[in-house]
Amino acid sequence: LQANAVQPRPVLDRLPKYAAGKPPAPIEGLTSYKLSSNENPLPPVPAVLDAIREQVGIFRYPDPLSTNLRNALADKLEVPAEDIVTGAGSLGALTQILNTYAGQNEDGTMDEVVYAWRSFEAYPIVVGTAGARAVEVPVLADGRHDLDAMAAAVNERTTVVLLCTPNNPTGPILRTEEVERFIESIPQNVLVVIDEAYTEFIRDDAAVNGIEMYRKYPNVAVLRTFSKAHGLANLRVGYSISRPQITEHLRVIATPFAVSTLAEQAAIASLTHEADVAARVESLVQERERVAAGLRELGWELPETQSNFVWLALGEHAVDFATYAGRHALSVRAFAGEGVRVSIGEVEANDRLLEICRNYPNKPV
Ligand code: PMP
Repeated sequence: LQANAVQPRPVLDRLPKYAAGKPPAPIEGLTSYKLSSNENPLPPVPAVLDAIREQVGIFRYPDPLSTNLRNALADKLEVPAEDIVTGAGSLGALTQILNTYAGQNEDGTMDEVVYAWRSFEAYPIVVGTAGARAVEVPVLADGRHDLDAMAAAVNERTTVVLLCTPNNPTGPILRTEEVERFIESIPQNVLVVIDEAYTEFIRDDAAVNGIEMYRKYPNVAVLRTFSKAHGLANLRVGYSISRPQITEHLRVIATPFAVSTLAEQAAIASLTHEADVAARVESLVQERERVAAGLRELGWELPETQSNFVWLALGEHAVDFATYAGRHALSVRAFAGEGVRVSIGEVEANDRLLEICRNYPNKPV
């Protein structure tokens, strides 16, 4: 340690590193497919590209409040525009929430943030960066949140709970009645964040709708994004929905100008062409059902998925499977010792996955 050199905060030593999905290494004679980041394999609706092309004002700063986008969302979702706060992706919106409600206190104590694990890999990073302590409650064997154990993990230091539905990377949704029971069983001064990054892919009527929860309970915030169903991952635009008593604080902590006018206009154009977006999403849902059925036919045991990915509970074979898929020019996301998440991609990419799984010797059963 050099006393005269700049030093990072000690928490940095403890933060996991975000392992962004990579494209596969090219293989001679094979088209490569990237199924490692839950991206939408389809291009955005054409109106999005027109909206971007028409933007001539990039020498100016964007509207820091994304007023036009918030108004468009307010119309569509039937919520007040005041209750919406945009961010650089839903991850930006989540970071605002954590920086507002979870951190280290002036007396040195740390707030606690409870979430299921395994879930979205950025959670420990943004919780730790905010200065709070992450309390990770293992998911059940079928990939669902263990809401009873999560409620039991809430104590007087807990300020935020993160619920992820459908859960990345395992796939299942949370049901309305279990979420209501959960919210009613914990103190009302704990903020419950419902991360609905993949909500458009849900086809199960029992699934909780975060917006209904936000209408019913004052301590709920919902996260949504344009990165998945709308196919705008690179433009970084997402948002939270919560009561004005919450949003007034989020707006103070939000990074100014985090959402560019390009991103804002693209998001509005995509919202305006909702039916086209829905048709794209439906084709991916059909593919998901085809892939899940195909895998089960091959004897692979899968948790239920309501998202744009499948979870292969490969355990100790996770990394080996990813290497094997890579040899067939397919990149997937391995979590060592746990499993592999594979995004639903182009039809040919999904066919390639099924073929790989047909031949892979250590399938989970
Ligand atoms: N939440 C979940 C559950 C996710 O899987 C992701 C993206 N992988 C995000 C949030 C963040 O997405 P974005 O910041 O692009 O909106």
